[in-house]
Amino acid sequence: MYFKRDTILFLNGKWLKATDAMGNLFSQTLHHGNGVYDGLRAYETGTGPQIFKAKEHFKRLHYSASTMSIQLDYTPEELTQIAYKLLQKNNLGNAYIRPLICKGRTTSSSDHPEVYLLMAAWQWERYLRNDLMRVMVSSYQKEAPDHIPADTKVCGNYTNSVLAAMEAKSKGFDDALLLDSNGHVTEGTGVNFFYEKDEVLYTPPSGRIVPGITRSTVMGYAREMGYQVVEKKFTPEDLIEADTAFFTGTSAEIAGIRSIGGHDFTIDWEDTVAYSLFLMYRQRVANNEFRDFTLV
Ligand code: PMP
Repeated sequence: MYFKRDTILFLNGKWLKATDAMGNLFSQTLHHGNGVYDGLRAYETGTGPQIFKAKEHFKRLHYSASTMSIQLDYTPEELTQIAYKLLQKNNLGNAYIRPLICKGRTTSSSDHPEVYLLMAAWQWERYLRNDLMRVMVSSYQKEAPDHIPADTKVCGNYTNSVLAAMEAKSKGFDDALLLDSNGHVTEGTGVNFFYEKDEVLYTPPSGRIVPGITRSTVMGYAREMGYQVVEKKFTPEDLIEADTAFFTGTSAEIAGIRSIGGHDFTIDWEDTVAYSLFLMYRQRVANNEFRDFTLV
């Protein structure tokens, strides 16, 4: 799925066949989770593939690198150019793009200066299901108070997401909602969370979540359509009264939720503000009409 025999990737300034690329088995990323990554989507348009909000994603990659004191020598503009070239070399239109910054040799001290940039692209359908999702409240917390910040895409942060996703799957759910140490809802395992009540959207404030680019896009669309969006802290109990809920993310786009912790939402998904946003997002972003909006 990630690569085929003729897939080309970008590694440390070189274009290589994926099958010829060599990784460092002793890298600090592999042994200690000290690497950072991001995920972008390109959409096929009449004038070739367009990457959705590339500069925002690469700025976030720089932020993630800075949280681990990793020096990234490529500017967001250079990274954007590499991403477009990557699509071209692989003849990809609709694609997912994964930049990953790895640290060199393993050592628990962070002073080893070697940094690797890998960029790969592959075809990836929407990551979450098209039908409505069943979600549980995870027993894993998003963040301990003295832990690495929750708003950065550091590889090691995602071991927690992997545990939460495995727990959810083993219990028959599609994904999980993670709480912070005060019991407030933060986000899904790799997606941001919204709920809707009386045509108002609520989402956790930034700080203890990855500041999703899809999240801010959806908030902008909702406000443009005249709906109120409120960033506030809330608990799973507050969700019992909700009309509906949904996840947002580059991989998932907008994914509607049927139930949380076995409690079903009663309003039909098609009758919600969330569904109008889902349609608008699909139309503007996925159906190539986003050229008139923010592109990179
Ligand atoms: N939360 C987490 C933990 C994520 O990993 C992601 C994906 N980057 C998101 C939210 C959604 O962010 P975006 O909309 O920028 O993909």
